[in-house]
Amino acid sequence: MKAAKPRLVSGDTPTGRLHLGHWVGSVENRVKLQDEYDCYFIIANMHAFTTRSDKPDDIRQSVIDIATDYLAAGIDPKRSTMFIQSEIPAIADLTFFFSMLIPYPRLMRNPTIKDEIRDKGLGENYPFGFLLYPVGQVADILSFRAEIVPVGEDQVPHLEMTREVARRFNQLYCGVDSHTEDKDYVKKGGLFPVVDVKLGRTKRLVGIGAPSPDGTLLKMSKSLNNAIYLSDDADAIASKVKAMYTDPKRLKATDPGTVENNPLWIFHETFNPDQAWVAEAEQLYREGKIGDMDCKKRLIDVLVDLIGPIQKRRQEFEKDPGQVLALLREGTEKANVVAEETLRLAKKAMKQDYF
Ligand code: ATP
Ligand code: MG
Repeated sequence: MKAAKPRLVSGDTPTGRLHLGHWVGSVENRVKLQDEYDCYFIIANMHAFTTRSDKPDDIRQSVIDIATDYLAAGIDPKRSTMFIQSEIPAIADLTFFFSMLIPYPRLMRNPTIKDEIRDKGLGENYPFGFLLYPVGQVADILSFRAEIVPVGEDQVPHLEMTREVARRFNQLYCGVDSHTEDKDYVKKGGLFPVVDVKLGRTKRLVGIGAPSPDGTLLKMSKSLNNAIYLSDDADAIASKVKAMYTDPKRLKATDPGTVENNPLWIFHETFNPDQAWVAEAEQLYREGKIGDMDCKKRLIDVLVDLIGPIQKRRQEFEKDPGQVLALLREGTEKANVVAEETLRLAKKAMKQDYF
């Protein structure tokens, strides 16, 4: 018999469509790892309610959009399982149990939570459920007893919490010694592997907009209206790149320009296959010998080459939303089998298996 492949979990919140940040941060890796791992891709619709509980129609549409993006980007439903979070009851059950293993002050120290409150302008009005979502994410991952999670840098604090909960659960309820090395927890009788994080080749892609008042460029994000989407056509890409933030002090092509912290060059360095041209053009830009528009035109070509084929495949899937929903249904059924099994084993370990 063929040995079972290790499991991989990753996913997205349905608050919009997938963008280039998702691609370099996570989706590119997910597509590549489909043969090596048994992959589960979660569409975390419950987490979308943390900031959009008043927009159920948008969340519903976005679930379909993200699934369509997955298929267009190369996630293969024959090899990988894509599913909808709220249809997996075991995740909610485990969220409650796991929330008991995380001290409240520990949660409030999570830097991603602080960044999101600031960047999404949540002020003091975020719901209690917003603080619960990282615990929910721990349950998303542990429900599948995953070994690896490909994500962007902003998810690292959540992943660290996932690792802590796995260790704690294994020690408390499975009798694993606290001196055990992370890689040995399951071997020593633990239920949950201590997951590995796999960061993308760009850990945090910036958006196309101006920086925040303190000068930091914001990450590309669905919620911040600063994204180039995998579903953007050539015209949309061109107009976004033409309007993108560059060096504000450079008014004409003969002004010396700053390459550092300039989205135009961050994007060229990330996506342009011709890095020799990039290095040369950056030097010319510094010396005021090349125009912004020439460099932007080059970037438009690079991005259209990358996104064009994805966008074309997407148009095919868009013609048949019923097929996308059917694939989600199949995936959700498959995901439930694994998550139910995990919940059963977790309850047994916690001595809450009564009947
Ligand atoms: P939202 O604004 O609603 O939080 P988002 O654009 O941040 O949406 P998520 O659904 O929160 O997207 O993130 C999904 C995955 O994509 C995560 O692994 C996250 O780290 C990764 N990711 C998102 N944006 C970027 C980015 N700009 N650079 C690298 N990775 C990213
Ligand atoms: Mg996010």
